[in-house]
Amino acid sequence: MKTGIFFHPSFFWHHTGLNHPENNRRVQKIIKKLDDLNLDRLKKFDCPYATYEQIGKVHDKKYIDKIINFFPLKQSMQLDSDTLLSPRSLEACLRSPGAVISAIKMVEHKKIKNAFCVIRPPGHHARISQGMGFCIFNNIAIGAAYARDELDIKKIAIIDIDVHHGNGTEEWVRSSNDNNFLFFSIHQSPLYPGTGYESNFSETNVSNHILSPGEGSYEFRSLVKNRLIPKLESFKPKMILLSIGFDGHKLDDISDIKLLSEDYGWVTEVVCKIATKYCSGKLISVLEGGYNFRALEESSSNHVVALTKSDNI
Ligand SMILES: [Zn+2]
Repeated sequence: MKTGIFFHPSFFWHHTGLNHPENNRRVQKIIKKLDDLNLDRLKKFDCPYATYEQIGKVHDKKYIDKIINFFPLKQSMQLDSDTLLSPRSLEACLRSPGAVISAIKMVEHKKIKNAFCVIRPPGHHARISQGMGFCIFNNIAIGAAYARDELDIKKIAIIDIDVHHGNGTEEWVRSSNDNNFLFFSIHQSPLYPGTGYESNFSETNVSNHILSPGEGSYEFRSLVKNRLIPKLESFKPKMILLSIGFDGHKLDDISDIKLLSEDYGWVTEVVCKIATKYCSGKLISVLEGGYNFRALEESSSNHVVALTKSDNI
């Protein structure tokens, strides 16, 4: 079976301006790089709109209406100091969670082996009633809610290796009060958004792990081996969703973490092995951050090559 790449041109139309780190050239660079790889084990898919009801499983109605009612929009507007909407952003905002839902459905129904959703705006900072940190709707949480409610998948692990803490995703997992979810994050602290303190062992479905400024491959790989793998071994996921941000790369100025492009291929292989062991290889990865173009190209291609090589049994 093939690895699905979920992408839609509307992700170019969410204009934040070329001086904004989360600009539309990010996905352009990734898609071009994946095209150049010319892997016959990759297949591209379109991204349908997520419905109001699907988004409403995560966000409150007042917030969804607020976003939708901004449109039609004549010029860009700020939601906060770094999160903005442009006149054609709505389509990208609705197709991004739609991509995750579609990828989850196709993986679950064994149409594809696994998937990488090359989407924007990113989602993991989006809270239940507030967009922030470049994020409007929480794409991965909307996908997780769909997997639970529409596909009846019981044990869903959400792993977040973006260098920032996925505060929006954690908020939603906590509010759902559902032990069928695990939220596991490795992120730099201190760093935006200032949440995600190291978890204590008594917490079962939220697990936060910290990298300090200046740390890199060794510390990251240690946390994956000593914290992530044991946690997944005890949780025994039936599906794994991966919030992947490439902004912990040493070339990315937004953080002080020094990961190498190879680390993203390595961690993908590790997570694929767990997915093969517990859930027939069902892994859906979702793009979050990553702002240095060379780091994005190298790391995303390592990620995708590892996805195509994973076994599904
Ligand atoms: Zn990030």
